[in-house]
Amino acid sequence: MAKIPRVPVREQAAQERIKNFEEVSYGYNAEEAVLEAHRCIQCKNPRCVQACPVQIKIPEFISAVKNKDFAQAADIIAEDSSLPAICGRVCPQESQCEGSCVLGVKGEPVNIGKLERFVADWGRKENYYNPTKVPTNGFKVAVIGSGPAGLACATDLAKLGYQVKIFEALHLPGGVLEYGIPEFRLPKEEVVRYEINNVIKLGVEIETNVIVGRTITIDDLLDKEGYHAIFLGSGAGLPKFMNIPGENLNGVVSANEFLTRSNLMKAFDSEYDTPIYVGKRVAVVGGGNVAMDAARVARRLGAEVYLVYRRSEKELPARVEEVHHAKEEGIIFKLLNNPVEILGNEKGWVTGMRCVEMGLGEPDESGRRRPIPIKGSEFDIDCDVVIMSLGTSPNPLIASTTPNLNTEKWGGIIIDENTSQTSREGVFAGGDNVTGAATVILAMGAGRKAAEQIDVFIKNKFGKK
Ligand SMILES: Cc1cc2nc3c(=O)[nH]c(=O)nc-3n(C[C@H](O)[C@H](O)[C@H](O)COP(=O)(O)OP(=O)(O)OC[C@H]3O[C@@H](n4cnc5c(N)ncnc54)[C@H](O)[C@@H]3O)c2cc1C
Repeated sequence: MAKIPRVPVREQAAQERIKNFEEVSYGYNAEEAVLEAHRCIQCKNPRCVQACPVQIKIPEFISAVKNKDFAQAADIIAEDSSLPAICGRVCPQESQCEGSCVLGVKGEPVNIGKLERFVADWGRKENYYNPTKVPTNGFKVAVIGSGPAGLACATDLAKLGYQVKIFEALHLPGGVLEYGIPEFRLPKEEVVRYEINNVIKLGVEIETNVIVGRTITIDDLLDKEGYHAIFLGSGAGLPKFMNIPGENLNGVVSANEFLTRSNLMKAFDSEYDTPIYVGKRVAVVGGGNVAMDAARVARRLGAEVYLVYRRSEKELPARVEEVHHAKEEGIIFKLLNNPVEILGNEKGWVTGMRCVEMGLGEPDESGRRRPIPIKGSEFDIDCDVVIMSLGTSPNPLIASTTPNLNTEKWGGIIIDENTSQTSREGVFAGGDNVTGAATVILAMGAGRKAAEQIDVFIKNKFGKK
C-alpha cells in the first residue's frame, strides 16, 4: 500500500465553536480510524508502549482496529485503562506515546490518541463494555479523591476483589475531569460520567460530599471503619497567586475557581444560577493547560481574552493542540510579559493590569530559560477580570489532620518510590498530591502502581481471608 498521510481530524470551525461549549474535535469515524490504523508499522519493540504511563498495548489495539475488530481493540485497551475515552481526548500524546512513535522521526506519528478515543467511543455507543463485579476477597480499601489517580487505583483493586470505597469532597466524582477541564474538550455526561459508571459497575462505591480531614479522618477510617489500607488521591487543588499589588481587587480569580464555576457548577449554561463574571476583557496569567482552558472558556462567555505569559511560545507548558485551538479562537497571546500590578478603580474593581516585558536568560532549575524583566518596559493592559493560572499545590487539610504523614515543604505528600507508601503504614498516595500538578495519565499510572502495592501490603500484613 502507498504511504498514507496522517488522517486529519474533523473539528468544529473556530468561529462557530467560540459561541458554544460543544466538543471541538469530532474524532475519527470508523473509516478514518481504520485508515489511520494502517499507518502503524507494528514495531517489534514498540517505544510507544514504554512511553505510556499505563502501558496500553498500543500496536495490538491498533492492529485490531486495522482488522475492523473494534471489540477486540476495546478489550485490549480495557486491560490497562479504565478511562480510555478521557485519555484519548486529553492525554499529552505528543510527549508520550506519539512522541515516541518511529514514524515521527521523519514524518508524522500515528494518531494514537484519536484511535484510542475512536475505540472508546465505539464501545460506549455500542454499549460493548459491561464490567461486572468480581467476588470479594474480604478486604476493604478506602480511596480519598475521585480523580484519575483514585479511579485508576480503585479499578485495579476492585478487579482483584477488594471492597473499595471512594470518598470525594465535591458533589460529583471525577476530580479535575469534572471540575477543571471544560465541556468542549471533555464532555461530562457522555464521557466522564459514563467511564466513572464503568468503575462503579466493578463494585466500587463512591460517597460524595465527604471532606476527609473534616467529615472523617484517616485515623477514623483505619481504626474505626476497619479499612485495611488507604490510597490518597486528593490531587493538588490549592491555587497559587503572585502576591503583587491589587491581587485582592474584585475581578481577580484563580483559574480553579473560574473553571469550577463554569464546569462543575455549569455557569456557562443559562439554565443554571451560578454567577460568573468576565466583563469585556479578560487577562489570563499563565501558559499551561489550565490557562488555555480558562482563556477559552472566557472567550466563549463573550470576552476578548489576553493570555499573559512570562516566557516565549517555545516554553509554553500547555499541550500543542490546546495552544493551536486557543489561537484559532482568537485568544491574544502576550508572550514574554509579566504582571507587576493589578490596577483598580475607587470601588475596588479591576480596571487593568500593569505588565513588564521580559527577556530570557540562562536555563533555570526547570531546564527552561529564566525570564528576566526588562527595566523601564512597563505597559498597561485594559481588562475587567484577571484569572490567575500559576499552578496549584496540594491542599494541606489531609496532611494537617493525619499525624506523622510527612510532606515536602511545598505540600507534596512524600512516598516511598518503590512501594508508594507514605510515612504512615497502610496509607499510600499518588497523583498530583505527590508530584504537584501533572497529567491525567501520570495520575492514573500512580494509582495503578499503588493498587499493586496495596495488594502486596494487605496480603503480607493480613494474609488471606
Ligand atoms: C483546568 C485543567 C486542565 C487540565 N488539562 C489537562 C490535559 O489536557 N491533559 C492532562 O493530561 N492533564 C490535564 N490537567 C491535569 C490533570 O487533570 C491532573 O494532573 C489530574 O487530574 C490529577 O489527578 P488526581 O487524581 O491526582 O487529582 P484530581 O483530579 O485533582 O482529583 C483529586 C480529587 O480529590 C478530591 N479531594 C481533595 N481533597 C479531598 C479531601 N480532603 N477529601 C475528599 N476528597 C478530596 C478533590 O475534590 C478531587 O476530586 C489539567 C488540569 C486542570 C486543572
